Amino acid sequence: MSVLRLGLIGNPLGHSWSQRWFEEMFRREGFEGATYGLYPLPSLDGLREWVLQEGLAGFNVTIPYKEAVIPYLDGLSEEARAIGAVNCVCVRDGRLTGHNTDAPAFRETLLPHLKPWHTRALVLGTGGASKAVSHVLRGLGVEPTLVSRGRTRGYAPTKRLSRVVSYAEAADLVKNHLLVVNATPVGMYPDTEATPWPYAERWTARHLAYDLIYNPAPTLFLKQATEHGAATLGGLPMLHRQAELSWDLWQ
Ligand code: NAP
Repeated sequence: MSVLRLGLIGNPLGHSWSQRWFEEMFRREGFEGATYGLYPLPSLDGLREWVLQEGLAGFNVTIPYKEAVIPYLDGLSEEARAIGAVNCVCVRDGRLTGHNTDAPAFRETLLPHLKPWHTRALVLGTGGASKAVSHVLRGLGVEPTLVSRGRTRGYAPTKRLSRVVSYAEAADLVKNHLLVVNATPVGMYPDTEATPWPYAERWTARHLAYDLIYNPAPTLFLKQATEHGAATLGGLPMLHRQAELSWDLWQ
């Protein structure tokens, strides 16, 4: 029986629950011929040769490689191209094609919780996940403003990128940006006492805090939002949905 070899590349991967999710799904569905490995890669040098040598049929991409992986690929799906980030790669006949399943997973998990007053959002971080999130928000008619530690200068807004502000500016904007999405790794295991949002006292009952991090659940970011009466969403449903969508592509 031929084996369908899949996996996750990134660095570090200690926080990841993807392997557990896939192995449980393979067991549940009786897929004996599939494996999902964790590959913490120190760099992407020689990625194509390594993928072909390992015989991978597909792989997920996580921090910090969602954007950096693009030059190593032969093609991109329309949505991955529009976003400028890839979290799922299909390998077929030696060709590597990049997709973005974070975007539909974020869209589907956010939609049931979106209220009419969520017309503007703050998106913390300017990495690959932030790009998928802001692409989806724009599609839903929610205006995203990205919040960065240092990219506000010399970071030209393009069609793809929204306005970028500093955390100090965001502290003021949050009163009329009632959706705040954490798309940074701050607060993720093992650094669970950290939060990317130092303005907990500014949460209100009309705010929705969405943390893409799923380990721990809840994060300090979400605990503080709850304490101040805001609605919250953790990253686990999104993780599961992007994994299901990746599996659909690999099959
Ligand atoms: P990334 O490419 O490494 O980017 C994260 C961004 O966060 C950086 O560009 C940076 O923006 C900001 N950042 C990084 N370190 C920071 C720090 N110490 N303090 C403040 N800001 C910091 O990561 P990513 O791939 O976008 O992923 C971000 C997070 O989302 C990760 O925790 C990942 O696990 C999670 N995620 C979850 C799901 C899911 O399915 N639930 C899907 C995708 C991603 P600035 O330099 O501009 O500040």
